[in-house]
Amino acid sequence: MRFDIITIFPDIFTSYFNESIIKRALKKGLIKINIHNLRDYTNDKHKTVDDSPYGGGPGMVMKIEPIYKAVQFSKSKVKSQKSKVILFSPKGKKFNQKMAKSFSKLDRLIMICGRYEGVDERVAQYIADEEISIGDYVLTGGEIPAMIVIDAVSRFIPGVLGKHESLEEIKGSYPVYTRPESIIINKKKRTVPKVLLSGNHKKIAEWRKRIDKKLKM
Ligand code: SAH
Repeated sequence: MRFDIITIFPDIFTSYFNESIIKRALKKGLIKINIHNLRDYTNDKHKTVDDSPYGGGPGMVMKIEPIYKAVQFSKSKVKSQKSKVILFSPKGKKFNQKMAKSFSKLDRLIMICGRYEGVDERVAQYIADEEISIGDYVLTGGEIPAMIVIDAVSRFIPGVLGKHESLEEIKGSYPVYTRPESIIINKKKRTVPKVLLSGNHKKIAEWRKRIDKKLKM
């Protein structure tokens, strides 16, 4: 699967994508991440990506033309059958595990990261297929949302998780413990649930199922 990120801060991504599971997935060719510097899609010598809002008001608004060009360029690279363009926005549809799973079936996801006061509304109306929010709070930009989406979606791509990591696809997410079996915290002994030490796999499975925090899938 190929991810395209359209951003004015391409350097934000390097350290995260160069570690651990995402790094391995890139190396194995299971995913590909293309980062587009929005300024490369401008025509003027100042590489302008923002302008003041019509109607007045504070802050700057990201311009539509460079975004349109960057999206067109990303789309033209490979003629893809199953692709989607998403715009990050605090007023978008809330991202969840079910959405992550459905995105993992695409072969390309193009993501537009907003900054400043946001993006010219015509991007949401005529360029993006969907507006996505990662939660009910306002961030300074769409770059962290892009990392979150890539991370959550990649986990669903076959081969990305090794056998030591697990996909909570059916089982949801249950609490886990490791050594030591007992520890003193604020003068009290805190131990691991006995059932997990029992060696009884059926009982353990039942316990995990019972206290499993179900993810909506
Ligand atoms: N003025 C806007 C905030 C813009 S924040 C408002 O009050 O709604 C700047 C950019 O950060 C947005 O364009 C968007 O791309 C990104 N962003 C901020 N919060 C986000 C969230 N919860 N989910 C996804 N993207 C977000």
